[in-house]
Amino acid sequence: MRPGIMLKDISTSFFQRPITERYPFERQPAPDRLRGMLQWNSSSCTGCGLCAIDCPAQAIEVIVLDKKAKRFVVHYLADRCTFCAQCVQSCRQGCLSLSSSDWELAALNREPFAIFFGSEADVQEALKETA
Ligand code: SF4
Ligand code: SF4
Repeated sequence: MRPGIMLKDISTSFFQRPITERYPFERQPAPDRLRGMLQWNSSSCTGCGLCAIDCPAQAIEVIVLDKKAKRFVVHYLADRCTFCAQCVQSCRQGCLSLSSSDWELAALNREPFAIFFGSEADVQEALKETA
């Protein structure tokens, strides 16, 4: 870069407000179609396991405790997830979605990325079964 152009850029930048955002102190609304954390709506889940079969990252495991009683636990590994939305497409019951508001997923260890969807009692039973 020529010194003249560089000096012009420096002087312009000196008097302009920075265009960078002061995240996390200032936040812009996320786009509606942003693909964040997986969400599971248990009400219509049949435990078919299609979401887990079709997940290219092996980020979902469906644990069937009692199919007749509709007791399922979905084990989601968010640190494997590529947010491709294949599971959302594959679920014929419309149980899955990717949140557009829950997307700040950074953590210092892997624990927060192992997520169990289901009732507290079902999750405890599933953990016992898989231990
Ligand atoms: S969004 Fe893609 S990678 Fe993530 S759980 Fe669904 S299918 Fe797997
Ligand atoms: S594909 Fe849908 S209905 Fe089937 S186990 Fe996954 S969430 Fe449940």
